[in-house]
Amino acid sequence: VEDTSVPVAKLPDYIRRVVALMEELGIEAEYYGHASVGLLHIRPIFSLKDPEGIKLLRQMEERMSDMVLEYGGAMSGEHGDGLARSEWIAKMFSPELVEAFVEVKDAFDPQGIMNPGKITRPPRMDENLRYHEDYQTPQVETFFSFSEAGGFQEAVEMCSGVGHCRKKLVGTMCPSYMATLDEEHTTRGRANALRAALAGTLPDGLHSHEVHRVMDLCLECKACKAECHSSVDMAKLKYEFLAHYHREHGYPLRSRLFADIARISRLGSALAPLSNWIGHSGFTRWLLDTFLGIDRRRRLPAFARQPFSRWFAGRRPVRGTKGRVVLFNDTFVEYNEPAIGMAATIILERAGYEVVLVENKVCCGRPFISKGFLDRARVLAQRNVETLAPWAEEGVTIIGLEPSCASALSDDYLDLVDDPQSRRVAEQVILLEDFLVREAPLDLEFAQTARHILVHGHCHQKALTGTAATVAVLNMPPHFCAEEIPSGCCGMAGSFGYEKEHFEISRAVGQERLFAVLEEAAEDVEIAAVGTSCRHQIADFTGRRARHWAEIFVEAL
Ligand code: SF4
Ligand code: SF4
Repeated sequence: VEDTSVPVAKLPDYIRRVVALMEELGIEAEYYGHASVGLLHIRPIFSLKDPEGIKLLRQMEERMSDMVLEYGGAMSGEHGDGLARSEWIAKMFSPELVEAFVEVKDAFDPQGIMNPGKITRPPRMDENLRYHEDYQTPQVETFFSFSEAGGFQEAVEMCSGVGHCRKKLVGTMCPSYMATLDEEHTTRGRANALRAALAGTLPDGLHSHEVHRVMDLCLECKACKAECHSSVDMAKLKYEFLAHYHREHGYPLRSRLFADIARISRLGSALAPLSNWIGHSGFTRWLLDTFLGIDRRRRLPAFARQPFSRWFAGRRPVRGTKGRVVLFNDTFVEYNEPAIGMAATIILERAGYEVVLVENKVCCGRPFISKGFLDRARVLAQRNVETLAPWAEEGVTIIGLEPSCASALSDDYLDLVDDPQSRRVAEQVILLEDFLVREAPLDLEFAQTARHILVHGHCHQKALTGTAATVAVLNMPPHFCAEEIPSGCCGMAGSFGYEKEHFEISRAVGQERLFAVLEEAAEDVEIAAVGTSCRHQIADFTGRRARHWAEIFVEAL
């Protein structure tokens, strides 16, 4: 009943009767559709793991197909018939036509090997169901809480299989599919693999190498969480899968290094510029490529000699008139690009805020989460929640600059730290641009500086809060003109693009909708990219320099 349509004029009456039928059968349902063409998508909610549910399904389908026929409509109004609806074709068309379908199909496919059972000679629609009374999955003890979905397996089963994650040209979901056009690399493909692992169809369950291969190209962009109509959160499912998989098979050294990037960065900054010279030398790149699988064509991020917090401590503090804000100095701002933190501090102070850096904060844990070190990530999350909670309790805003770090605090912590304080902290976390737009009009005086800026948003930002504020804030200076590139994922996704086996797919993901646009842009056009890895990806594949928007904005003050 997911795809019924009737003549437009009859739609209101049809909807009334559908609702009445669902009530009569005791079925709760959701409805949406395309009224202009008489199409109603019906999403009945009941369990097919229960034999009564399967009986109810049959009863509902028979009654609905009769009703649709009575209105002169069709069971497949927008999508194909597939195995689910082909059975009703015999009801919709005359026996002569149905026979003609069979003859045509047989003429082109005498052995019946192409899409068997679809349209011609269909099985009953309640045969071969994905779920049935014998479908059983073991309870999985998880690191993340999946209580919102009802459990890990329920979170996997949220995928309804409609295939919206196979879109190719708009949005961000699903970058690996857009680059490969392979079903296996859709959100749905991954959900199916996880479901098969849980149901025992794939041996070794969550320790399966096959499932690892299917999950491998997920860039953990969180786009499915926002764009999939069932909100399948594959990034979170992948983190959980990796934790189980690597507990069984061990964590590779490369994952350990990427996960511990905060500690490496602290050391790198202390040893800069020597560390940069070593990191950028051809020999080191060869070494990392050969022994760790970190692609030598990548240029590793440079370390700053002076960490951001040292600059912050050494400057003359400004007492604000508009209250205090906590600035969350993430690893990349602290050790790689302190200029972003400096710009953010100047902007906030000029706007009248007193900026505070909290002591004892640690890495947000995103690199550990991303590589499946969830117990380590939880320790970091707990520490940050403890450190930030007193500020959050006072209602002080916690400002993030790097979307993947801010999203760890505002999104991942909620399911990683079983403590009401984590919610309090999450509520106070906001990206700088969202904060400035929320607080506008700002008490800022702008210079005459003119800039034309192209903005590329970060995937986590797009999924959780949207990119409108980045564009809006960059359009505040009167001589700035900012516009957003309709790009999807850049393809870097943290450490993903550095990994040798992902280099080409990383390029392919960003090529069409990001690199091609930037390559066309005039030399004097500024590129603003909110994410650290996006900026590196842009530099590596286009040779263009992208900056965090705050670095550009501060030039107008
Ligand atoms: S992952 Fe989401 S968009 Fe893709 S098929 Fe499943 S429910 Fe549909
Ligand atoms: S997180 Fe991104 S890459 Fe992974 S399945 Fe979802 S949309 Fe695809």
